[in-house]
Amino acid sequence: MSKHALTIAIIGRPNVGKSTLFNRLVGRRLALVDDTPGVTRDRRAGIGRLADLTFHIVDTAGLEEGDSESLAGRMRLQTESALNGATMVLFMVDARSGITPMDRHFASWLRVQKIPVVLVANKAEGTRGMEGAYEAYSLGFGDPVALSAEHAEGLGDLYESITETARILGVDPRAEIEEEKPDEDETLDGPQEGDLDYDFEDPEEEPEFTDDRPLRLAVVGRPNAGKSTLINHLVGEERLITGPEAGLTRDSISVDWDYDDIPVRLFDTAGLRRRARVQEKLEKLSVADTLRAVRFAEVVVLMVDADRGVDKQDIKIASLVVNEGRALVIALNKWDTVDDRLSAQRAVNDVLTRSLPQLKGVTTVPISALTGQGTDRIMPSVLAAYELWNSRIRTAEFNRWLSAVTEAHPPPAVQGRATRMRYGAQIKSRPPTFTIFTNHPRGVPDSYMRYLENEMRRDFSLAGVPLRLYLRASK
Ligand code: GDP
Ligand code: GDP
Repeated sequence: MSKHALTIAIIGRPNVGKSTLFNRLVGRRLALVDDTPGVTRDRRAGIGRLADLTFHIVDTAGLEEGDSESLAGRMRLQTESALNGATMVLFMVDARSGITPMDRHFASWLRVQKIPVVLVANKAEGTRGMEGAYEAYSLGFGDPVALSAEHAEGLGDLYESITETARILGVDPRAEIEEEKPDEDETLDGPQEGDLDYDFEDPEEEPEFTDDRPLRLAVVGRPNAGKSTLINHLVGEERLITGPEAGLTRDSISVDWDYDDIPVRLFDTAGLRRRARVQEKLEKLSVADTLRAVRFAEVVVLMVDADRGVDKQDIKIASLVVNEGRALVIALNKWDTVDDRLSAQRAVNDVLTRSLPQLKGVTTVPISALTGQGTDRIMPSVLAAYELWNSRIRTAEFNRWLSAVTEAHPPPAVQGRATRMRYGAQIKSRPPTFTIFTNHPRGVPDSYMRYLENEMRRDFSLAGVPLRLYLRASK
């Protein structure tokens, strides 16, 4: 093992996703197994890379949850062995299942080791994962890095945490790891053939559409709003790419196509509807189908029939989108039938923002799917919304903003004691999600949270983006 390189151990109870992260960091290089008896098959080691960082990495996977009473003992042994020689620990918890007694056990044990810990809340993709990520604060290792090892989300934050911890330690996370013959006494394997030319994904560029992950888009709206008409216009039969999921066959629910070389996967609720045979069904909005499409999508285009105006069903769909935290673009369709366009657009915006204040500033694009007028503005708006949805605000910037807005308009005191918003940070994007530490997490009224949210939308130009702001108790 080289002396000045970083050595990271991934620690955590079974099934939190340690191997998944290990595999992602080590890539396709073979990780050899240490064959010390008792620890053996439970340990893997390799050379990890994350953008320009290079480090030794040890994984402690392999223990089964159902391993009964010997588990604690074996885990201890395995973990101790992994920690031996490590300069830094990634302590991983599962954001979906929440914090378990075993996590707490690990935490209290790790606290007495003299080794810096980066807390990682894995499986934090989507909104459901967030609960556990907040709970993870209570483990006392500071801000968790919200990560999805499986979907490669949050690697940028992991990069920052590792770099920062290495800086504090005075270890060079970019040190070239020397070629070395594996030594019998070594707990780590030397680099493998092809290590140095392995082309690792740059987390800064992730999760852009440049890799082969398509942008996931759904077009939703009431029956007859014009969804099929728009989809045909956007996709155009000749641009269809054939593949297992492609083709606008009547039964397909998703279709792949390229917009300006950007791969897009479109969830076709209209296609779903075409499948329905009973006329009566066609007239009803299927909430289940809509919800399915919204959950599938990163960006949702809500089609409103401008001829009929925004009604309760439209609001219901829009609130599904907001609740699911997806990026939204509103298409005001059938614009060709509208006479007084100015007041029509104003009326739509009024109804939307009155019913769903979060939608203030959301992009509305007047179109005629039938004639094609305005439809060329749909995809640029979708991409812009996607970009905002992926926004990241640096912690320092966020805190400067937080002290400015709380100073301008302080939160109400609770039982005579001032409420302080001490510190906060973005813990996730897609949608942008923030946690603020305060002395009175339960004493802050909703109206104040709305104030913060509105200020934030304005100051960081996040119009129309669903934001998540959470409060946590500060010590
Ligand atoms: P380990 O026992 O801690 O090494 O966990 P594994 O890496 O074997 O992962 C346990 C399970 O969690 C597997 O089924 C993984 O596919 C799954 N998993 C890992 N990372 C993620 C993630 O980011 N999100 C979700 N939803 N599942 C994940
Ligand atoms: P879906 O149920 O949302 O898929 O709606 P369709 O695409 O099937 O359209 C429903 C009806 O509205 C059809 O008769 C379309 O021709 C008509 N329609 C769609 N877009 C427009 C438009 O921009 N202007 C007008 N005047 N009619 C439209």
